[in-house]
Amino acid sequence: MSKRNLKGIEYFRIAAAFLVVAIHTSPLASYSATADFIFTRVIARVAVPFFFMATGYFVLGGVNVRRSLKKLLIIYAASAALYLPVNVYAGHLQGWDLLELARQALFEGTFYHLWYLPAAILGLWLTDLLLRRLGEKRAGIAVTVLYALGLLGDSYWGLIENVPGLSALYGGIFALMGYTRNGLFFAPMFFYLGSRLQGGKKRAMGYELVGLIASFAVMLAEALFARSRGWQRHDSMYVFLPFVVYFLFALLMRARGSVRLPLGNFSLLVYILHPAVIIAVRGAARALGLWGPLVENSLGHYIAVCLGSAAASSAILWLWERIKPRRVSDTARAWVEVDLAALKNNARRLSEFAPEGCELMAVLKCDAYGHGAVRSALELNGIGVRAFAVACCAEGVELRRAGVRGLILILGWTPVSEWRTLRRYHLTQCAADAAYARELSGAARGRVDVHVKVDTGMHRLGEDWSHADAVADIYALPNLRVTGMFTHLAVSDSLSESDADFTSEQIRRFFALADELKSRGIDPGALHTQASYGLLNYPDARCAYARAGVALYGVKSDGHDGVRAWPGLTPALSLKARIGLVRELPAGESVGYGREFTTARESRIAVLPIGYGDGVFRCAMHGGAEALVNGKRCPVVARICMDQLCLDVTDAGEVKPGDIATFIGRDGDELISCEEFAAKSGTISNEVLSRLGKRLPRVYR
Ligand SMILES: *Cc1c(COP(=O)(O)O)cnc(C)c1O
Repeated sequence: MSKRNLKGIEYFRIAAAFLVVAIHTSPLASYSATADFIFTRVIARVAVPFFFMATGYFVLGGVNVRRSLKKLLIIYAASAALYLPVNVYAGHLQGWDLLELARQALFEGTFYHLWYLPAAILGLWLTDLLLRRLGEKRAGIAVTVLYALGLLGDSYWGLIENVPGLSALYGGIFALMGYTRNGLFFAPMFFYLGSRLQGGKKRAMGYELVGLIASFAVMLAEALFARSRGWQRHDSMYVFLPFVVYFLFALLMRARGSVRLPLGNFSLLVYILHPAVIIAVRGAARALGLWGPLVENSLGHYIAVCLGSAAASSAILWLWERIKPRRVSDTARAWVEVDLAALKNNARRLSEFAPEGCELMAVLKCDAYGHGAVRSALELNGIGVRAFAVACCAEGVELRRAGVRGLILILGWTPVSEWRTLRRYHLTQCAADAAYARELSGAARGRVDVHVKVDTGMHRLGEDWSHADAVADIYALPNLRVTGMFTHLAVSDSLSESDADFTSEQIRRFFALADELKSRGIDPGALHTQASYGLLNYPDARCAYARAGVALYGVKSDGHDGVRAWPGLTPALSLKARIGLVRELPAGESVGYGREFTTARESRIAVLPIGYGDGVFRCAMHGGAEALVNGKRCPVVARICMDQLCLDVTDAGEVKPGDIATFIGRDGDELISCEEFAAKSGTISNEVLSRLGKRLPRVYR
């Protein structure tokens, strides 16, 4: 989902912007009416849907829908203000009919090309709403119906023009909206298609290429036919346009690579400014006596407008770079770095490793073990992970609001009074035992999804495995929809004989209960038993899910844990901080609170702005904690404070303020693993990761 990484999409924005300019300048009109029709009314019609689709792809289902809507509103307001003088001059704004103004603002954009902005705002809002309320399939049907209704008011107007009821109906629509090419009938289809591509279903390139060529050919024929029949009331919408844009977008997505230039803003500016540039070009042409080549010649006019728009847009961007408000850089002090490629690779490896029929359930509790739950979930959604687990209701809501799709299982206890939240966000609650299940069913109005938790020996949550009647009763409760049953293993991280026996017994008990339910004619739903170690040490073909947490992040709980398999998992997280001061101290000087450390030699002590408030445990000083500077291990000395700590960098070569120290992760040939960092604080990776401070920015690479 990383925006900067889709080079093809980013560069095509520029082409699309100049295609829009073409629609408004008709570059080939001086040469051939048919060629101009094909260029501006068929080919260039791809541009605006492409922009909608890109926004749908990057924004829908993510955390940024609201922010995007706000940004679009601001741009819209600014553009409307920019064109206000032109409007007044042209006499479009006579009188103050507020209803008429509202109508124009909502559908027509107050100036002829600005319709795009209200259409983007309405379309994005509506598509987001449809997706969240109806789910993907039904939202797809809804946008298709809207688009079909739009077609009849656009290229296919001729078909219904003389059908009495319909033409009256559309008369009403046109009185309100002018066109069907707007945020209601036109835009949602493309926003929706953009969101569909997020799933990242890979198809063969040939398929997409043939799809693009074929759909374009058909669309061209369609356009020429509709034109020859005189059906077109307007020429923005074709049956095959969504296909063309979809295949084009899918092809463009193949070109990966980072883009640093603000191409999105550039194309937006070209879009907004080009009508002003048209006016300017006419003025300049008249003044310079170049009316013939710069205005009358359609191609000369087009090129002049393109160059003028590009120059004006570049100038504004250059200026904006210099005056825009700055925010603190994420890497100014101390930060967590997350390697998304490693995270996704781990997810793929675990999915491949799991037996046939067993799906990865990514455990994202405690902010995805410090990796950032929302971003991790969206990335994993993007590669097809469709099941997630969190610890509590609020974590589930956070993911849903960010647009995460698929199963979200709450592993922990939730007050039954939250049943409404559970339903609203389609969260699946752990039915912690039979009494809890009854209480939840009693409290809820409407069905709540649950997975039944079974206690097979862990004695934490769960109804006892031997209480088959009690468990069977949960399945019969009126306000629960039981879609699964699970248990948790207590010692699956150990390969010792007695622990292996205990684990086997837990698994046996669980499936004995499942069989008992089946024999009573109850479908127990999706069965799952394993967390990371359960999957790695006891892969079990009978499970529908493997709930992987720590392994998903590429680390073991304890570096000494033996595991039967480690399918190419690599750590995704690093912890880094900048060096603040570097002090020279003679031998015999004490440093820090309690004077607990005294220099044994002439030393260089680096002071860093990171402390136990960020998750570098205070006890780590006594555990021999180190950090990497210049690829060398440097000991943490003196007491660790809430926000600061000291490193002895005497042997690390040249060290200066601003240099980076690595507490977890790699620097040169040296590595401090999360397991090592944890061991030196007397704990396990899970605790280290889950206690990384909230204050640390998460930087994704
Ligand atoms: C935390 C948790 C997991 C994930 O555990 P890992 O060992 O990190 O894979 C799985 N299931 C339950 C019930 C959990 O609480």
